[in-house]
Amino acid sequence: MSMTTEAPPTVTDQKCSTHSRAVQRDIEPGSIVECISCGERIKFQAKIRPKQVICNVYKGKNWDRVEHFHAPCYSEAGEPHGPVDTTPVVKVRRVAAKNNPAMQGS
Ligand SMILES: [Zn+2]
Repeated sequence: MSMTTEAPPTVTDQKCSTHSRAVQRDIEPGSIVECISCGERIKFQAKIRPKQVICNVYKGKNWDRVEHFHAPCYSEAGEPHGPVDTTPVVKVRRVAAKNNPAMQGS
């Protein structure tokens, strides 16, 4: 018998990964990066939970550097590395219980 070890098609998800892009993330405690726009430290603040924008900057086809912005600074700068991907990395799992139509009509 022949073991057809067909490798699964390699997902080359590189269609857009060779240009600069920006994502929005929470600022982590202990962050020591500085906003490249205003030069101030991007500080974690538990009370207001500010956001930062992290940009992977490419020069041509090669990754060059990471730049950090305060979220407001990034939009003020005119989104130099494109629109911000605000898709959260955490899974949201507490929306379903609320507004559940099955709970109505007793
Ligand atoms: Zn800033």
